[in-house]
Amino acid sequence: MKFDSIIIGGGVAGLSCAIRCAEAGLKTAVIAAGQSALHFSSGSVDVLSRLPNGEAVNAPFPAFEELKSQCPSHPYSKLGELQCREAINWYQDMMEHCGVYLTAQPDEQNHYRVTPMGTFRSTWLSQQTVHQFPQHQLAEGLAEIALVTVDGFRDFQPQLAADNLSKLQAFAGVKIKTAAVELPDFENMQRNPCEFRSIDISRVLRDETKLHAFAKSMIQQVGKADLVVLPAIFGNGDGAATIKLLEGLTDFKICELPTMPPSLLGIRLEEAMKSHYKRLGGLLLSGDEVLKGEFNNGCLEKIFTRNHEDIPLVADSFLLASGSFFSKGLSAQRHAVCEPIFGLDMADSTHRDHWYQPQFFSPQSHPFMKMGVECNKQLNPTINQQVIKNLYCAGAILAHYDPVQEGSGSGVAISTGYYVAQQMITAHQHKHEHVTETQAKQERTIA
Ligand SMILES: Cc1cc2nc3c(=O)[nH]c(=O)nc-3n(C[C@H](O)[C@H](O)[C@H](O)COP(=O)(O)OP(=O)(O)OC[C@H]3O[C@@H](n4cnc5c(N)ncnc54)[C@H](O)[C@@H]3O)c2cc1C
Repeated sequence: MKFDSIIIGGGVAGLSCAIRCAEAGLKTAVIAAGQSALHFSSGSVDVLSRLPNGEAVNAPFPAFEELKSQCPSHPYSKLGELQCREAINWYQDMMEHCGVYLTAQPDEQNHYRVTPMGTFRSTWLSQQTVHQFPQHQLAEGLAEIALVTVDGFRDFQPQLAADNLSKLQAFAGVKIKTAAVELPDFENMQRNPCEFRSIDISRVLRDETKLHAFAKSMIQQVGKADLVVLPAIFGNGDGAATIKLLEGLTDFKICELPTMPPSLLGIRLEEAMKSHYKRLGGLLLSGDEVLKGEFNNGCLEKIFTRNHEDIPLVADSFLLASGSFFSKGLSAQRHAVCEPIFGLDMADSTHRDHWYQPQFFSPQSHPFMKMGVECNKQLNPTINQQVIKNLYCAGAILAHYDPVQEGSGSGVAISTGYYVAQQMITAHQHKHEHVTETQAKQERTIA
């Protein structure tokens, strides 16, 4: 159980770091206690849509300088624009290699994706099956769109989305229609309403005969449209291929939008990353949980997990990417927020009364969203102010940013995960050079 690098957390931050380490030949292990935030995400990669002062951002990377002046301790401010760009470009290429095509607008601007409510969210990269609405002209090229659901599916209500869309000035000249298409096997699935989720529908549509029947019904229900918007009900690995097939059968241009969890678009990213990591030879311990660690001389030496009990897992360097409150990477006690595995130092923790804004839908960020572990520029945390040199933090566990208000969630997770991996790789190379040099010296002495 001795590794070059051990990563705690199987979300986008942990997996980005693990893949980069495995690519560089490091013996790597990932320990992931449960599902990551990707199961709840849109599957688009947000980089930066809003500055901390609330100002909207059209082009994320050029805004990093202003971000640094507003928030010097922001994770992006620690990494700098170039590092973040490199990380996001690497992620895009790596995912393409896995068959998941993520694209940005050619003009370096964020684009909008439509939500199930018929509102728009600004983002940087979207999967090829998601329609990118340009910022400057939302309804560009659209005269008639159809919002289509599966009859009986509760997680997407097209009429609600259509009502909200039609209120927008940009859609004033666009005809918006809705339809509910019957799914073959509907009768059987209805026996248990809990089994009529996106993931269950995707299993039915994987069957080509049923997909043909669905396509036929879709043509009858929709008639004519420039764009058909469907909820994400197509499989994890083969979702994009199924949509292509459906486009061929119907002659419609089809796009998908994320639904309520489980979000197939997010799961698609996670599954692709996990498979790629395993193909690279990485070890993934799913369903195990890190409970504690042992430190020596300012370094983390070993960790202990629930399943391995008193058998320690040892590594040269460790990444803690256990997420925020959502994934139990942070824990809120009555009067303090803490990091539960190692008891790392937190960024200023104010009194509970100041953890949140009085209004839930406040334009300002809720302070608890920015709570997290305090780290230095290399992303090393401290315990009682002592830096832990071989332990790093990445992703939602970090302090000083609000992924929701800023629209920066996956962007920060990928950039910090990649940045840590680069440091782990350099440390590993130095160690090898040192070992080779020492061996050569010994051989010379013997000779
Ligand atoms: C509902 C929701 C929707 C979002 N939508 C978007 C979006 O559309 N686009 C976007 O860019 N961002 C979005 N975000 C933000 C973004 O998803 C997160 O910021 C990002 O995924 C965080 O990744 P992470 O790897 O840091 O943490 P997580 O994804 O939370 O992963 C943490 C991992 O650590 C594991 N873990 C925790 N404790 C332990 C332990 N003791 N031992 C072992 N493993 C442990 C967890 O089980 C989990 O696997 C969304 C966030 C939420 C909550």
